[in-house]
Amino acid sequence: MRPVFDWERCIGCLACVRACKTGALSYRDENGVRRIAFEPRLCDGDLLCVEVCPVNAVKGFPNHESGESSVTFELARCENCGRLMNFTVKEVEWAKGKGYYEVFLCRECRKAFSVEKILLEGSVWRV
Ligand code: SF4
Repeated sequence: MRPVFDWERCIGCLACVRACKTGALSYRDENGVRRIAFEPRLCDGDLLCVEVCPVNAVKGFPNHESGESSVTFELARCENCGRLMNFTVKEVEWAKGKGYYEVFLCRECRKAFSVEKILLEGSVWRV
């Protein structure tokens, strides 16, 4: 079995890249753009990428001879400070559509807001 990627459907979440043990899937974030690439010669056909994809953008086909392919996405910016994040714009739109988060923040702003919340609510240390 070999994976075939529907890059139109893909949101650039990297779940498949992280699941791939052979390096057939790779990515690079540079200058506000994420590029995901598939190198079929390195693929062992385990199809973990099919299992983890949240939007069914990967399907497995027996004896499929796929060529190299890649896709690019615009990276999203933090809705508080405007810093580039490690989410794609498409991924943010998809997550908001699902109601997962109302606001997308970068790691630094998330940390700052968590500390602020803890200080305001005095939560974690209170018994
Ligand atoms: S898991 Fe699916 S949506 Fe996420 S990057 Fe891979 S193909 Fe795209």
